[in-house]
Amino acid sequence: MGSLRLLFLGTGDYANTGARANQSIWIQSQDTNVLLECGPTTLLRMQQERLNPNELQAVLITHFHGDHFVGIVFLDLALTLDWNRQKSIVYAGPRGLQNHFEQTYKVCYGDFYPNYQFPRNFEEYSPKQTYNLEGMQIFPIPMKHKKESLGYRIQTQGKTIAFTGDTAWNDDMINLSKDADLLITECVDYQKTSKNHLSYQELKEHSALLGAKKIVLTHVGKDVLENRSSIQWDIMDDGKEILL
Ligand SMILES: [Zn+2]
Ligand SMILES: [Zn+2]
Repeated sequence: MGSLRLLFLGTGDYANTGARANQSIWIQSQDTNVLLECGPTTLLRMQQERLNPNELQAVLITHFHGDHFVGIVFLDLALTLDWNRQKSIVYAGPRGLQNHFEQTYKVCYGDFYPNYQFPRNFEEYSPKQTYNLEGMQIFPIPMKHKKESLGYRIQTQGKTIAFTGDTAWNDDMINLSKDADLLITECVDYQKTSKNHLSYQELKEHSALLGAKKIVLTHVGKDVLENRSSIQWDIMDDGKEILL
């Protein structure tokens, strides 16, 4: 058996509530490094954790909200200018990823892009098909947040990680989490207040339907943090890691 390590670089919401960085998880599966989500604070957090962004083979995105996606432009620029990257990188996510990347790049840095110093391979996923991402099997399932939003079942080294990205409760979360070794779910609210996000109360009500062996919460908001002591699952903090 090899090693499968998840380092939570960012566990906060869009507003960095609780002084938490934006969503991002560094997944290391043997020699493969994949970044799951890339918010604007991700490069800062990599440096704080002494991780080398040039060791990434791929970045996987769930949807195009800035707190999950915008950091990919900063990462791409840093790989070009600071790391003089030559080898290719895979950017994977929902359909429209390449267009969103190029538009965001232009808004942020004008005509600097395209710079073809290293190849970017865009992989745009359709729901409910299996994809191979650098040796990891990725099965995207539509979530209920933005129209392009995908949750992912990620299989590697005989383990299954389920990740919701941002979502409101929807019955596809049952398929997403079924028999997974780990479910990483967003949890913005303590009690239901947002129609686009999950609350702890909803997760608790549906917990019998969530078949994952272990559940952890991320993308947590103020009320969740204030009620932390009454929450039955682990809340991930920036810098925490899980070994599977
Ligand atoms: Zn978000
Ligand atoms: Zn979002």
